[in-house]
Amino acid sequence: MQGQMMHVPLSIIEILRFAAESHPGAGIVSVRTEGDLHRESYAEAYARAGQLAHGLAGLGVGPGDRVATLAWNGYRHFELYYAVSGMGAVCHTINPRLSAEQMLYIIGHAGDSVLCLDLTFVPLIEALADKLPGGLKLVLMTDRAHMPESAVDFLCYEDLLAGQHTAYAWPELPEDTAAGLCYTSGTTGHPKGALYTHRSTVLHALFLSIAVPRSLHEGARILPVVPMFHVNSWGLPYAAPLVGASLVMPGGRLDGASLFDLMEAEAVTASWGVPTVWLGLRAEMENRGGKPAALDQVVIGGSAAPRAMIEFFEGRGVDVCHAWGMTEMSPVGTHGQLSRSMQSEPFDRQMALKSKQGRRVFGVELKITGEDGTRQPHDGKAVGELFVRGNTIISGYYQNAEATEKAMDAEGWFGTGDVASIDAQGFLYIQDRSKDLIKSGGEWISSIDLENIAMAHPKVANCAVIAIPHPKWDERPLLVVVPRDAGDPPDLAEIHAMMLEHVARWQLPDAMECVEDLPLTATGKVSKLTLRQRFDGYVLPDAG
Ligand code: AMP
Repeated sequence: MQGQMMHVPLSIIEILRFAAESHPGAGIVSVRTEGDLHRESYAEAYARAGQLAHGLAGLGVGPGDRVATLAWNGYRHFELYYAVSGMGAVCHTINPRLSAEQMLYIIGHAGDSVLCLDLTFVPLIEALADKLPGGLKLVLMTDRAHMPESAVDFLCYEDLLAGQHTAYAWPELPEDTAAGLCYTSGTTGHPKGALYTHRSTVLHALFLSIAVPRSLHEGARILPVVPMFHVNSWGLPYAAPLVGASLVMPGGRLDGASLFDLMEAEAVTASWGVPTVWLGLRAEMENRGGKPAALDQVVIGGSAAPRAMIEFFEGRGVDVCHAWGMTEMSPVGTHGQLSRSMQSEPFDRQMALKSKQGRRVFGVELKITGEDGTRQPHDGKAVGELFVRGNTIISGYYQNAEATEKAMDAEGWFGTGDVASIDAQGFLYIQDRSKDLIKSGGEWISSIDLENIAMAHPKVANCAVIAIPHPKWDERPLLVVVPRDAGDPPDLAEIHAMMLEHVARWQLPDAMECVEDLPLTATGKVSKLTLRQRFDGYVLPDAG
């Protein structure tokens, strides 16, 4: 029997309209590329999104057109998110840390008709100007007074808005209409596009709000370090206005000192980002001997959060929520917010739970499968390839049938490429990306496990474990360390002793090498691919 309820299509612009009406006091604070601090309420953002939609329509943007952005976290980027999708066009966020070749590839593959960019990226676009598709309109996200002299024909963002009506007749779109496009940073082969819909984006914002209420609630002030050019800043630009939280946008200043100052000045209550960013904030908190006063929670994801990092923040009164997800999942799949009963468990047990990647958010199903595709039990022991299913997960890659076929299994689940276990309480534990696992004598070694332990050594600032080919064992682990003090490196025997409390002797790294820094991917994660290339030809002590 069919139910009898209305069907009103879910729409992204409705989030902002709702925030403008229901949370008039909340809004966006932005560190601008122009150098100052800017404030705007959600009501003002909604009005300016209307003006922007008129301006973009004047440039010829119509339904289904792709409008690209190359920008930091800030209010103009936020306005583009809403205006572009609200008009029925697609907001394509480009990661400025991609190589020029990858950037040109995705601009061409997406078929962008407009590219909006921050002042920071003028030199980048000037250098690429000859290779950009003819007809691509370039809009500089600034006002007339800050327009630079340039041989390139840039339009001015504020000119597009000036004099336009704030009211825009936002069309009622089918909820499956494409709204956002984000390419994976693809370390091998071309980047692949995840094409989000209005429905998937609104549902993700709702699911996220239920999953992480300690960050997402009315009156909260959230600093997304995670960039709007990477998976929609983990959905914060949608979830924050939905619940009435304000956004504090850091622009391009992401070092520990700048973040600490901004958090302090703007009474930031929560901040979300990848582990490499928290290394900087951690060092700053150590220098200043405390946390930013109002900071209550950090959400860490994108790579495994080392236990030592979790304990550092927790020990200073900052709750850590360890989350896992992917570009292809909008992105959040699991969250580490502990249930009430878990919160009364001993500190050590809580830290052990928080070191895992957490439990699934509503709307995301998880399964792990063995090599023959059979489902493995969720007993915390069985390890397998992780598959996901849900309304916020891609059903295929944008115009890439080959990658789609590889990613989806026969039951229609999406293969994450991660290797994981799930325990009886539902906690996911990511062992590795399947391509980063180390295969030694037919057995697997988790690089994440070893890194997690080494990070707890007081002389280790950062580290990574990679596979080195070995004549007898196939592969053996090499520990690559960035010491806190280059003149006083850690002792491998001490690290081995720490590791032996948790792993078998045959899993210990064969050697340790110290480096000044670790190579990062475009999304700020340690690039194991580049690191393996750096150590190409490396001979382990007993492998000669
Ligand atoms: P991306 O699409 O760039 O966000 O990368 C997604 C991948 O990052 C996942 O498939 C995981 O391999 C990794 N990842 C994300 N969050 C975590 C986490 N909390 N722990 C370990 N790996 C993670």
